[in-house]
Amino acid sequence: MDCIFCKIANGEIPSRTIYEDQQFRVILDLSPATKGHALILPKEHADNLFELPEKVAADAMNVAKKMGAVLKDRLNADGLNLVQNNGEAAGQTVMHFHLHMIPRYKEDGQNINWKPHEPSAEELDEICKQITEA
Ligand code: AMP
Ligand code: ZN
Repeated sequence: MDCIFCKIANGEIPSRTIYEDQQFRVILDLSPATKGHALILPKEHADNLFELPEKVAADAMNVAKKMGAVLKDRLNADGLNLVQNNGEAAGQTVMHFHLHMIPRYKEDGQNINWKPHEPSAEELDEICKQITEA
């Protein structure tokens, strides 16, 4: 399979690696939203979160916790966004699971945001039912 993140994660293509273990490589994003924007890449291919084994998903969050703190500390960031896109509709452009770590700085001019809707109580009830009822 011709997957660029497989090649990067497994060291076939060089990258700016800030952390590596048996399961993951963490690299600097080539087109960063902010200084230190990094990607957590599992070495084993999975298209997206739905395909990712549970253990890898859990371990990815632990890497985010550890490396998020390192980024915040080393780069003097004021905050951190974790962003993870699944599917074209959600903005995924590389079809190999990756978890974005985006250090945030006061007045960095970035905007990870959405336009809030104002559903009625009935609409929210209906959505809740649709998700939870058999
Ligand atoms: P997404 O839109 O969630 O699929 O994000 C893909 C991310 O991968 C974008 O932020 C790109 O800038 C980044 N990216 C794509 N190719 C590379 C690469 N070769 N090395 C590092 N980052 C990359
Ligand atoms: Zn891959």
